Amino acid sequence: MAGSPPTDEGLIFRHAQLLRIKACVFGDRFMAFSFKKAAHNQYISEKDIKVPWYEHIKYAFENLAEDDLLLTAQVDFHCYAWDPNQDDEDELEVRPQLPNSFFVRVMMRYQQLISVSSDENTLKTCPYHLHDTEEERKACPSHRKAY
Ligand SMILES: [Zn+2]
Repeated sequence: MAGSPPTDEGLIFRHAQLLRIKACVFGDRFMAFSFKKAAHNQYISEKDIKVPWYEHIKYAFENLAEDDLLLTAQVDFHCYAWDPNQDDEDELEVRPQLPNSFFVRVMMRYQQLISVSSDENTLKTCPYHLHDTEEERKACPSHRKAY
């Protein structure tokens, strides 16, 4: 994550988040949808609107379907939380490798963000979770939590 001190805990969390994305890719390829849903939702909840690492964005955009909700979440989390001054050397090194489709989606999202009022501009994690039913979504602890 941009700006995080490189503590062991930070490195473990970073690695765990990448493994969750890899688990989503595995879940897609082997049609293990419950497995994918669990990994996806854990990625979203653990992430809690923090800037995704570039390595994770690169991996997700190269391995998940264009319409995968995780890509939308990465774009939105980046737009809401990114601070260019917090990119450390590792992030700066990976930045040029980011996929063009990520930049295009970031451009589109920024345009949407500046065209709505600030009241509508709060981000919740639940819209980025995979839920099978409306009841399940309503029962989600982050359903009403705004940021
Ligand atoms: Zn939810």
